[in-house]
Amino acid sequence: MKEVKVNRELLTLKAYSPGKSSEEVKREYGLTKIVKLASNENPYGSSPLVREAISSLENFAVYPDGAAVTLREKVAKLLEVDEHQLIFTSGLDELIQIISRAMLSEDSNTVMAAETFSQYRHHAVIQKAEIREVPLKDGCHDLNAMAAQIDERTQVVWICNPNNPTGTYVNREELQAFLKMVPPHALVVLDEAYYEYAAADDYPDTIPLLDRYKNLLIMRTFSKAYGLAAFRIGYGIADAGLIKQLDVARLPFNTSALAQTAAIAALQDQTFVEKCVSENVNELQKFYDICKRHNFEYYPSQGNFIFIRIPGKESADVFQYLLEKGFVVRPFPNGIRITVGTKEQNEELFQLLEKMVLVTQ
Ligand SMILES: *Cc1c(COP(=O)(O)O)cnc(C)c1O
Repeated sequence: MKEVKVNRELLTLKAYSPGKSSEEVKREYGLTKIVKLASNENPYGSSPLVREAISSLENFAVYPDGAAVTLREKVAKLLEVDEHQLIFTSGLDELIQIISRAMLSEDSNTVMAAETFSQYRHHAVIQKAEIREVPLKDGCHDLNAMAAQIDERTQVVWICNPNNPTGTYVNREELQAFLKMVPPHALVVLDEAYYEYAAADDYPDTIPLLDRYKNLLIMRTFSKAYGLAAFRIGYGIADAGLIKQLDVARLPFNTSALAQTAAIAALQDQTFVEKCVSENVNELQKFYDICKRHNFEYYPSQGNFIFIRIPGKESADVFQYLLEKGFVVRPFPNGIRITVGTKEQNEELFQLLEKMVLVTQ
């Protein structure tokens, strides 16, 4: 008897695991409180306007607006782009899936950094595309090396800016020089999930580049600075012709009425976002200070997270130490990524890190 079988590419992958739930961690280590600094969520929550807006939603029996008409109008106006240049998705995770499904196959390759956001690779594997990973250089995208990997079969090039997990960024000049090197048949996807947080003067303003580069797609999300990760909503901005083609691979009702309503309300409260962003800049500085004081290695970050390596310590051990104290961070082979929390959360975390290095010196 033959068994059902999924495509063999799937056997080489694991389903996404968010790690242990807060409840599990509490029970396992007998803790009363968990501080989750593992997924770069907004530690200040979201605008109060969101709660108000979603509580007025009434008719649950009808499908949501598949074209996200109202949200589309608002975002188009805010960004000064044409409404046809936008595609709304169930978070950027879905947009990455749509792009991959629409553009990658066994006849093509895709170029990305390593280490970067894991979903680019995940969907490329499912699509059977050849994956060309280019190691980061000092934590940054090595754009010259990436350009050298592009050939006539390259369909998508992924640039995560700022990069998750390192927090480093590609500046205006570097990006422009790179775009000039990319042939017009290769789509450059700029993942700007942390766009609102990026504070560097030379962080690129990419929307105006869309007029010149038809092979550019910018991704933004409501999950991070807007604090709406629970609702699942993000969007892509690109040439209207490309958006029309990608839209074919989108599910009819991919963003819920709740998500659209929440996003519209969140857009109205830019003051909330600005406050979160300025707190993040202040708190990041404190992370830098602690790192310098104890000779921890780190990358200056343009996101709401920081990548740290503590010399002489395995990242798995640092992760475990913090976990047992109730702080959940994200371990990588060569360091840990910590979401920048509130002032109080960070102070507690700093104390734990200091205690750890003092005890073991
Ligand atoms: C969080 C994150 C995403 C996914 O965001 P969603 O919109 O919540 O799916 C995409 N890219 C990067 C770099 C991220 O950090």
